[in-house]
Amino acid sequence: MSKSKESQAYLEVITGAMFSGKTRELHRQYSVFKSCHFNVQVFKRDIDQRYAQDEIVTHDGLRFAKQDVFIAKTVDDIERQIKKGTDAIMIDEAQFYDSSIVKKVDEWVDKGKIVVLTLLPTDYRGETFGPAGDLLAHADKITQVFGRCMFMENGLYCHKPATKTFRKGDVKDVVVVGGSELYEARCRQHHKIKDK
Ligand SMILES: [Zn+2]
Repeated sequence: MSKSKESQAYLEVITGAMFSGKTRELHRQYSVFKSCHFNVQVFKRDIDQRYAQDEIVTHDGLRFAKQDVFIAKTVDDIERQIKKGTDAIMIDEAQFYDSSIVKKVDEWVDKGKIVVLTLLPTDYRGETFGPAGDLLAHADKITQVFGRCMFMENGLYCHKPATKTFRKGDVKDVVVVGGSELYEARCRQHHKIKDK
């Protein structure tokens, strides 16, 4: 890492409800880092994507080079895999890690690493998701992205900016990984409305 990169270290949190494009924004920044020849490591809790020859393709069709993607179930898993020469650490879905992540990201930034996280701030009930509040408080930069409210009434979508994640049906567990069959983006007003 060059001196100039070292002095650029910061913590950025990309936050928004489900379907707001957090991973898309992460990928945009990943592409910028790569074009600057930064060494980047992208951490995910698991890989549910199709494998291409040399890339990992997300369900949105975003491509991360395979050698840049690392599986980490815990914060310790991340730390163990961080390479000395890494300029930027990217972590997808940081809300799923335990609270030890808050102290660790500060340490990594203090050591000169750029850290960029995606973060679902609240669960389907609207409660703070795991370490989300502390991560937002510690961020040097917060990038908020919005989806559009998918509540439908009389055949028309609301389509106001969505800041909440709504869970359809009647599942009680807080952490249930799912896609559009289970979740939808909702505005504040329509997040409160029960499913029909
Ligand atoms: Zn709405």
